[in-house]
Amino acid sequence: MTFFKLSTSLISIVYKRSLLDQCYVCDIRREGTLCSSCQKLLQRNHSHCQLCSRPTAVTVTLCGECQQTLPSFDRIIAPLRYEGLCRGLIRKAKFENQPHLLRPLVTFIIDHLIEHDIALPTAWCVVPTSQQSLSERGYCQTTLIADLLSKAPTLASMQRIVLKRRLEVSAQHTRSKAERHSLSHRLFYTEERVPEQVLLIDDVVTTGSTAEACAKALRLAGAKRVTVLALARTSE
Ligand SMILES: [Zn+2]
Ligand SMILES: [Zn+2]
Repeated sequence: MTFFKLSTSLISIVYKRSLLDQCYVCDIRREGTLCSSCQKLLQRNHSHCQLCSRPTAVTVTLCGECQQTLPSFDRIIAPLRYEGLCRGLIRKAKFENQPHLLRPLVTFIIDHLIEHDIALPTAWCVVPTSQQSLSERGYCQTTLIADLLSKAPTLASMQRIVLKRRLEVSAQHTRSKAERHSLSHRLFYTEERVPEQVLLIDDVVTTGSTAEACAKALRLAGAKRVTVLALARTSE
């Protein structure tokens, strides 16, 4: 088992140099991506299931769904709730051709990892965007998130694994929960033999069915432990 510990000072140096001096949301001059007023508008996922990160009234070891069926992933780290400003930024990044709006959210995630001294697995992959979304959007938002993360020395020296989609189906957000669940179990695969510990990067975790399908594919390829890192979590 190998873990890569975050270096607070290195991340700060690399990141502070690349920051702009205006808030990404309200344009107030600011040394950072979001001013303090806009930061307060991000809903922290303070109380949640400790396994799947589903928002709950109080933090629980396992939520009802995880108690019913243990997922194939071992943990989801999702520091924000998919509400308000966070939801607005992600939707604009995904559907309104404003991918730069992912940056303040990734900055928040990096700060969260540092603050809570969270260790990440040394191998990582992203949830691949469908071909349809990729041609509509022109970019893969999860790859952009990984690229931003890799600017901090959290992932730079880590092994990248390529996860692929087996079938081309229409975008997940247009489908019902039941449809997504049945389709997702045959969506993903990798041609590589993967290490025991893998980090899976996603933008938003909704039902958890995509993370489940990816984790299953990674386990089939040799992973023993799959940690999911997402910008945000819905309460779905
Ligand atoms: Zn602002
Ligand atoms: Zn749960």
